[in-house]
Amino acid sequence: MFKIGCHLSISDGFVKAGKTIISLGGNTFQYFSRNPQGGRAKAWNQKDFDDFMQYAKENQIEVLLCHAPYTLNACSSNPDTRDFALRCFKEDIVMLEHFPNALYNFHPGSHTGQGVEVGIDQIANLLNQVLYEDMKTTVLLECMAGKGSEVGRSFEEIQAIISKVKLKDKLGVCLDTCHVYSAGYDIVNSLDKVLDEFDAIIGLDRLKAIHLNDSKMPFSSNKDRHEKIGQGTIGLDAIVRIINHPKLKDLPFYLETPNELEGYKEEIELLKSKRQN
Ligand code: FE
Ligand code: FE
Ligand code: ZN
Repeated sequence: MFKIGCHLSISDGFVKAGKTIISLGGNTFQYFSRNPQGGRAKAWNQKDFDDFMQYAKENQIEVLLCHAPYTLNACSSNPDTRDFALRCFKEDIVMLEHFPNALYNFHPGSHTGQGVEVGIDQIANLLNQVLYEDMKTTVLLECMAGKGSEVGRSFEEIQAIISKVKLKDKLGVCLDTCHVYSAGYDIVNSLDKVLDEFDAIIGLDRLKAIHLNDSKMPFSSNKDRHEKIGQGTIGLDAIVRIINHPKLKDLPFYLETPNELEGYKEEIELLKSKRQN
């Protein structure tokens, strides 16, 4: 089955978001664990959650992807920021453990001048503090465009983090098509080569989700500007090859394109029409 959805707000609860994604023609969605600029998470609403689980079952909604706030930076030079990252990560996982198999995606971080080596150590250090043996949630490191001091701009940097984490089976990777294209992986002309490289360095078995975005910026620009599907430098043909690629087609795809709901609906419709099975 084609697992396709988009980013949605859960400010009105999971049930509302679930109904929205069904109305858009999708079957999964991504949401922020809390305000993307940080702050506190909303109080847990058990009734809404129980109702959602029932609704999800009846409507074949697939595993959801929870996105950590952008302000979560495990490798900031500011210790207060690192403290917030640790606290936020722990709280979010408590919430996610309500699900039978949640995915929690985060941006590895920006080293803010400390250097990539220190950044990788601090990110692994956070993961070693928050992951635990019995957890059901899988934590995904998102591949980044490499703007500023972002860590995770290459498959090598992602793997360097994973290699320093003890409970590696709790970890996966989320590939953002806009980010990797901006980071210099040519998914337009050499998708197979990029996936072979991913497999050789990280292992394709770690790949758990795709952020499906076109890009406003040129190849290898290290800029992170998402574009609507088919309107950017990646283009519709390359995106169609991605959703149909035998090594990717069973993964969940999440649109993070600059759209209102109507635009998401059109993109989901378009992608479903281009899907080969
Ligand atoms: Fe992201
Ligand atoms: Fe993304
Ligand atoms: Zn992005």
